[in-house]
Amino acid sequence: MLAGIDLGGTQVRVALARSDGQLLASFRTKTPLLGTPQRMVEWAAAEIEQHRRREKINSIAIGAPGPIDIEHGVLVNPPNLPGWRNVPLASMLRRATGAQVHVANDADMAGLGEYHRGAGRGTRNMVYITWSTGVGGGLIIGGRLHRGAHGTAGEIGHMIIDPDGPLDNCGQRGCLEAMAGGASLARETGHPAAELFKAAQGGNEHARMVVERAARYMGLALISLTNAIDPELFVMGGGVTRSWALVQPTMIETLKSSPFIKPARRPRLLRARLGDRAGQVGAVEWARINQ
Ligand SMILES: [Zn+2]
Repeated sequence: MLAGIDLGGTQVRVALARSDGQLLASFRTKTPLLGTPQRMVEWAAAEIEQHRRREKINSIAIGAPGPIDIEHGVLVNPPNLPGWRNVPLASMLRRATGAQVHVANDADMAGLGEYHRGAGRGTRNMVYITWSTGVGGGLIIGGRLHRGAHGTAGEIGHMIIDPDGPLDNCGQRGCLEAMAGGASLARETGHPAAELFKAAQGGNEHARMVVERAARYMGLALISLTNAIDPELFVMGGGVTRSWALVQPTMIETLKSSPFIKPARRPRLLRARLGDRAGQVGAVEWARINQ
């Protein structure tokens, strides 16, 4: 059997599957309730133990927020898991379950989930983008998850859109995340991003202008990604896609504005299908691929 875990700042989700990837059961809890890495590992191991029905768990993949030391399976200092510094997650889970454990980037896992079981099915070259508080991504190239030389490929949020733009948390200026991420829009307008999008929906001129500008920046990122990667499809998930009708037309219009990207090679843009299950579904796939 396999297990896929999606470790987020608000929830931890675990899915159990047959060795061919067929999902059997899933369960979740709130991350803050568990508190420490040790308790999270104990909880996940106990749930897996209880549901595995005497079958052996061969392989576990866990998607976690970056930065991650992929090679050693260590969470370095994820901003949305305060206190989780240098956590050797792979070895902790291995000790608790006896399975081989693969630690991966959460956006990579969500992208893999959409590729195998969601909006990306049937493609070979797909870019997954999660647009919410921050901006992240996962690259599927030639039918495989592309992780790069150090496991950090797909950091779409840190593509520089404007070198004179606002300073990002990462230290660069004018990153896509600093220009269009929900947290930066909230900082700029003084309203939570969800409120901002609601106001734009309701016809508020200023809110509409801010949202459109953010969608245009995202569209510029789509142009650069198309030129760099030549995907067939963009799949977009994350909280902002709840306002799809508000952002999709501007992104498409921006993508179409490139005279260099001819219609024949212009990728499609679809909304993600798996919602917040994408991460656990992708982690199961990663456990299957690496078993
Ligand atoms: Zn950045």
